[in-house]
Amino acid sequence: MSRATCYRCFWPQSLCWCPTLQPMETRTHFVFLMHPKEFKQEKAGTGRLTHLCLSHSKIHMGIEFDAHEEVQGLINDPSNFPVLLYPGPTARNLSTGGLNAEDLGGRRLVVFLLDATWSGARKMLRLSPSLQRLPRIMFTPSGRSRYVIKQQPQDGCLSTLEATHELLLTLERAGLDRYPLPDQLLGLFDRMQQYQIQCAADPNRGGYRRQPYSAPGERVAPQGRSGARRSRYLVVPPAAPES
Ligand SMILES: [Zn+2]
Repeated sequence: MSRATCYRCFWPQSLCWCPTLQPMETRTHFVFLMHPKEFKQEKAGTGRLTHLCLSHSKIHMGIEFDAHEEVQGLINDPSNFPVLLYPGPTARNLSTGGLNAEDLGGRRLVVFLLDATWSGARKMLRLSPSLQRLPRIMFTPSGRSRYVIKQQPQDGCLSTLEATHELLLTLERAGLDRYPLPDQLLGLFDRMQQYQIQCAADPNRGGYRRQPYSAPGERVAPQGRSGARRSRYLVVPPAAPES
């Protein structure tokens, strides 16, 4: 098989997702800030695929963003309402009416998402006080069993895709946006998972998880460090361990 890579979705050209992706129009502007380690480690590149599914989104790689011209432009534009998707005691929970159209006052909602592990995300915030100062939003995920209990093909693999899907559902419910193709990201999730399960079952293929997956009934909820990594955006009671 050719090793050539599609430099849009960063999958091998023979498996390129691009022709199947339909960019969705949203009112909200999404900004994915990707830790460089995530770019190297997360082979499936779900952050990038999610970005390619959203017409009004950007993806930037880096750790410090206080001197990043485009990021600062979005934060400082008075016609924007910039927020950071990051759960915590001070975060506004969109699922319980924590943010509404009146709060926006006609401004465009700009959501920054950190595509990183917990420790990576904390470092990005520490080095970027302008991101630290942003109001934080969170949501209570609806598809808890589907997204959190299910064993994922690799650590952190689908978090950004899942978090964005859940966020779009929540924004629509809160009357802040429309979610035009709610099946698209989940369809991508399933196709990617099928592909990775096939790879895992094929001993001749390297680069993906080599151990076969356990049957769904034998799967256990993620725990410990990898669990924290997977649930970096999703707030699931009891609170995911952060250390
Ligand atoms: Zn592609």
